[in-house]
Amino acid sequence: MAISERSGQEPNVPFFLPSIGTEEEQAVLRVMRSGWLTTGQEAPAFEKEFADFVGCKHALAVNSATSGLMLSMSACGIRAGTKILTTPYTFVSTATTAFHLGGGAVYADTEEDGYNIDPAQIEQKLKKDRSIRAIVPVHMGGLPCNMTEIKRIADFYGVKVIEDAAHAFPSKTAQGYAGTLGDAGVFSFYATKTITTGEGGMICTNNDTIAEAVRIMRMHGIDRTVWDRYTSKNASWKYDVVKAGFKCNLPDILAAIGREQLKKAQILGEKRKKIALRYTEAFKNFDFLECPPDGEGNAWHLYLLRICREKLSINRDEFGSLLQQRGINISVHFIPHFHFTFFKKHCGLNVRSFPHAQKLYETTLSLPLWPDMDDAMIEQVIQTVTDIGKNNYEN
Ligand SMILES: *Cc1c(COP(=O)(O)O)cnc(C)c1O
Repeated sequence: MAISERSGQEPNVPFFLPSIGTEEEQAVLRVMRSGWLTTGQEAPAFEKEFADFVGCKHALAVNSATSGLMLSMSACGIRAGTKILTTPYTFVSTATTAFHLGGGAVYADTEEDGYNIDPAQIEQKLKKDRSIRAIVPVHMGGLPCNMTEIKRIADFYGVKVIEDAAHAFPSKTAQGYAGTLGDAGVFSFYATKTITTGEGGMICTNNDTIAEAVRIMRMHGIDRTVWDRYTSKNASWKYDVVKAGFKCNLPDILAAIGREQLKKAQILGEKRKKIALRYTEAFKNFDFLECPPDGEGNAWHLYLLRICREKLSINRDEFGSLLQQRGINISVHFIPHFHFTFFKKHCGLNVRSFPHAQKLYETTLSLPLWPDMDDAMIEQVIQTVTDIGKNNYEN
């Protein structure tokens, strides 16, 4: 609905706006004026600073988390005849990337009372399917998965763990940051993620072999970086191609934005958390709403609100439409993979096999949650959600 149609009403609350300031603008100018636009010195500096932040040995910058997932899977042996095991409750590229490598995907349902993959179901699937080479858990909305249990199972069955940490910067657990706990972890700097470079991603690993494989495969399978070739003392046009690699490097213009965003990450995270806890405080006493778990360490990329279908005369779609009509922009994370033609066809998926994920999908919507939301916007979201619930209450 256009803004004009809503004149006289409250203003729109955007679903998301990035927190970009003059620091990021200056960083872009600095790189543009330097004469070196592609991957040069900024990306390695961003990698070093990111690795220090999360506490891992290697951080490898890439042009998207999607590329990062594909490269990590490639380094962990995903190819024709092998598969990943993941959750249906995630973005499409958590699984399509396995297909890009010629591999496939198997799915385990989410936990009965949470948004993350259920470790017990992981074990069931691994018992049955020996072609699975890697588990890809997703820290949904920023709430860390039970990595201790997932790693125990992975070790027992001899498979790798690649964390989809696209929502999880920075999500902290007792063992360290999410994204540094498996064999590899992949962060996203897409425009709506917790820090952004417009498009971009980071692969974290403590495994030298995986790091080296990723380094080569992200740059055409070439054994030397272009910066090294043009600037090292024995500068040379010579290089070898050792694999049929991809082209997934993060350009310096974007890396420079990332370095500035990284400096703000802690503050941005605290602001998101404050808003999320304020939502929960306002919603928790209404029996027609179910708040997300406010678990320790949540990065709060998303505020996943569930409506209780038994208490309301309207469903999630109708609830969402009413919010949109009153200027609150919402989203739904995610349409589970078993609803998509591609996965139904190539993974034989069926909604009946995933009762937990389907229940989440039917009842969940994502509210606006971004660091620079002002008080009036937060109050407008709270007021509108509770109003709609009360107006459509059915006991
Ligand atoms: C955003 C997202 C991705 C993909 O990130 P890009 O950087 O856009 O490629 C992967 N997985 C999940 C769960 C995401 O939300």
